[in-house]
This record gives sequence, C-alpha cells and structure tokens, in this order.
Amino acid sequence: MDSPKLFDIHSHLNFSRFDEDREEVIKRMRDNGIWTVCVGVDKKTSREAIKLAEKYDEIFAAVGLHPTEDLTTGFSSDEFEKLARHPKVVAIGECGLDYYRIENQPAEAEQIRQKEVFARQIELAIKINKPLMVHCRSAHGETLEILSSYEGARGDIHFFSGAWEQARKYFDLGFSISFAGPITFADEYDEVIKKSPLDKIMAETDSPFASPAPHRGKRGEPLFVKEVVKKIAQVRGISYEEAAEAATRNALNFFNLRTAPKTTK
Ligand SMILES: [Zn+2]
Repeated sequence: MDSPKLFDIHSHLNFSRFDEDREEVIKRMRDNGIWTVCVGVDKKTSREAIKLAEKYDEIFAAVGLHPTEDLTTGFSSDEFEKLARHPKVVAIGECGLDYYRIENQPAEAEQIRQKEVFARQIELAIKINKPLMVHCRSAHGETLEILSSYEGARGDIHFFSGAWEQARKYFDLGFSISFAGPITFADEYDEVIKKSPLDKIMAETDSPFASPAPHRGKRGEPLFVKEVVKKIAQVRGISYEEAAEAATRNALNFFNLRTAPKTTK
C-alpha cells in the first residue's frame, strides 16, 4: 500500500453513529486515498478502534481514557498497556483535561481526578514510546504545566482551540496541533493557522462531531478532512496541494508511519 493523499488524524469510526453505514463511510474514505486514526475514549471504544485497525490498512488506532468519561475507577495502566502495544496503535489518547463543563463550579475533586488519569497516560506514552493524542478544553494553562513536567512527553493537541500564545508554548515543548471542522466557519482560528510552522500542524475531523462547512449540522466523516485542509491552504495563502502534502507528511512522521505496519489479518 502506498502513501495516503490525506490523513484525518482523529476520528471516531468506532462510535455507534456509524453502525448503520460504517462500511460505506470507510469505502468513501479509502476511495479518496484518506487514512485515519480511529480514537478510543475508554476501554471499550479503544478495543473497537483496534478491531477496525486490524481490518483496514488505512485505519490506525489510538487507545486512552477521555477526561469526560467516568474516571472514578481511575486509569488501568496495565490493561491499557496491553492494548497500546498493538502494532497498529499509533498514539495514547484521547486523554487530557476538560474543564469546560466544570469551570463554573469549584469541582476540585474532578479536576484532581482528571489530572491523575492524564498523568498515568503520559507515563504510559513515554514508557512505550508512542505519542499522546491530547484533548484539552478550557485548561491550556494546566495542560502545558503537566506536559512540561514530563521529560520525553510528545504528542498532538487535537481540535486545537487555543490562542497563538498557547500554540507557541506547545510548539516549544515539541508538540504539534491539529485543526478540525470549526476552522472552516469561524475566523478565530485564522491567526494560529497563519502563524504556526507548516511542519507543526495536522488536519482532522473528530467525526462524527463538528462537521466542516459545507457539511455543517450533518454527521461528520473522514472524507470531510478535505475541507479542513482547503481552509488551512486558504488562510495561509498556499495551494491546496501544498497544504495537503504538508499535513499528510506531518501525520506520517508524527505517527512514525514512514513504513506503515500492515494489518495483521
Ligand atoms: Zn475526539
């Protein structure tokens, strides 16, 4: 199998919203030369992501525990390590901090729990030498603080929604950022898109969520990553081909897929 034309670095083809027509969605993606990383948010969806990755050369998996999932039983490093060592697992996540829902209340216990579960996943990523797929909402200061306290942590801040000042700090730590559908209909991302080094940015859909224009309001799918790349090209004043080539090359480097592992089946 040769190289992809585009790489949607974050999708959830494992989610039930694709149960009706998953095969067709994946066919559209493959027919367009698009690869994706199917991302788990807990044990169950992480296992499902691996199953899809075992079935299709174009699909890879990320395994982790999302901060808005039930964290009361903590993060089982042993169980996740078993999943994470699978040859088609290319990242740990999504994991991180999400203070959006709790920011209007003190909810200190919840914040402590999120940080604890995040820390365990950073340690696992370092241990098995795979990058982090970081989810961060309304908590960039804390996320930067935690990440910078670990030597050897590397990864991507997915669905980046922060300001340029924060993006710059992530780059200083060696992290990259990825943009999702909302950049196509909101201009608040333009400054970061323009100022970021071209080798530090990637594209994603986070499908089924957050569809880009002109598909807004519809269920998202990896095919729509084209719209995200189109917008990156437009904002930076470069050709679509140049943006697509850069975002794809960055993804292959980031996930260490220069020589992509084949499916095991
Ligand atoms: Zn996601």
